[in-house]
Amino acid sequence: MYEPVLLKNLDVADAHLLATYEAGGGYRALNKALKEHTPEEIINLVKTSNLRGRGGAGFPTGMKWSFVPKGNRQKYLCCNADEGEPGTFKDRIIMERDPHQLIEGMAIAAYAIGAEVAYVYIRGEYVLAMRRLEQAIAEAKTKGYLGSRILGSDFNFIVHVHCGAGAYICGEETAMLDSLEGKRAQPRLKPPFPAVAGLYASPTVINNVETLVCVPHIVARGADWFRSIGPAKSPGPKLYCVSGQVRKPGLYELPMGIPLRELVEDHAGGVPVGRRIKAVIPGGVSAPVIPEPGLDVAMDFDSLAAVGSMLGSAGVIVVDDTTCMVKVATRIVEFFHHESCGKCTPCREGLNWAVKVLRRIEAGKGAPGDMEQLDMLCKGIFGNTFCALGDGAAMGLRASLAHFRDEFVAHIEERRCPFH
Ligand code: SF4
Repeated sequence: MYEPVLLKNLDVADAHLLATYEAGGGYRALNKALKEHTPEEIINLVKTSNLRGRGGAGFPTGMKWSFVPKGNRQKYLCCNADEGEPGTFKDRIIMERDPHQLIEGMAIAAYAIGAEVAYVYIRGEYVLAMRRLEQAIAEAKTKGYLGSRILGSDFNFIVHVHCGAGAYICGEETAMLDSLEGKRAQPRLKPPFPAVAGLYASPTVINNVETLVCVPHIVARGADWFRSIGPAKSPGPKLYCVSGQVRKPGLYELPMGIPLRELVEDHAGGVPVGRRIKAVIPGGVSAPVIPEPGLDVAMDFDSLAAVGSMLGSAGVIVVDDTTCMVKVATRIVEFFHHESCGKCTPCREGLNWAVKVLRRIEAGKGAPGDMEQLDMLCKGIFGNTFCALGDGAAMGLRASLAHFRDEFVAHIEERRCPFH
């Protein structure tokens, strides 16, 4: 039986308060990091643990930290708490219920890379999370976990909370940096990568909330413990957000690599009685949909990539057999079209065009040649956009067209939605 680590305080009363966090062993990992390890040792520890970024890309965290140049230049740590991917709510729950866990992870990460200033870029809708985080930062300052000469060391560190205005593109790290600098949020050309020239052109590490909260546990329990959970290439505890047509939607902490079917049917209770699972989107709406026969896949970066999908944010959305897949695909592409930043033509124009075709098919007004147009649009968008938003939209639509083509064709031929 797996014992939660990241969510162990979820049901503890007043877990967001410093006294509760300390009583459960909180900030001991920071003390250990500062007193027993050099910054290089922390980077090596995280490298050895094989922790991969939980924001979606799965890049090795220790390696990312090691790219930051040494020396006395100003450096920044940015925590990406924008969490704009539909179906994803894990970071919000951590910040609302256990904000000190994030602050401790950030302090250790900042010590490792030599940053004295950090920003948490949090989406504007997360009002309670923002308040809890600000309260936790104030508490941590009073007890010497933040500020100057932390816990008697030479390490100085402060965290600022920056409220975003609700743009999906701010989940893209360089767009987030532009937004933090007060500019319109649009992705930057890379290289230079943020580790070399990020916030205010200074070396910057950007990590997701879940990634950072893994760090105190790695310091406290060791890299071998972390590697002992889940698959060797992407180990560790993992947070899965399960929503859609399931009986027990919610946030689940389980090992990385758990079979998708086990997560949906055993932990989340499966679909309502009398229905069957039709498909599952495993990693937020930018992850290609997996039809029911494919649900035995392991929930980790490599296994999902091997079946043409992705772990993404682990926002698992369950669709049952009463749902029209044309409707699902249309809502998702409408979302991406709305959130397109407009910087590049294939995404800006291609998604606009795809939405028009999808809406008319959904309404029973599709025309011969519409399927070919959608195929052509996916081809024109995928691989030709400035950032991953366009690719994600095209990949998702392409998977829906491939797996549920008969439903799209039925809408066109019958001139109506067969589900109504
Ligand atoms: Fe902007 Fe879309 Fe191009 Fe990304 S792919 S830069 S979101 S227009």
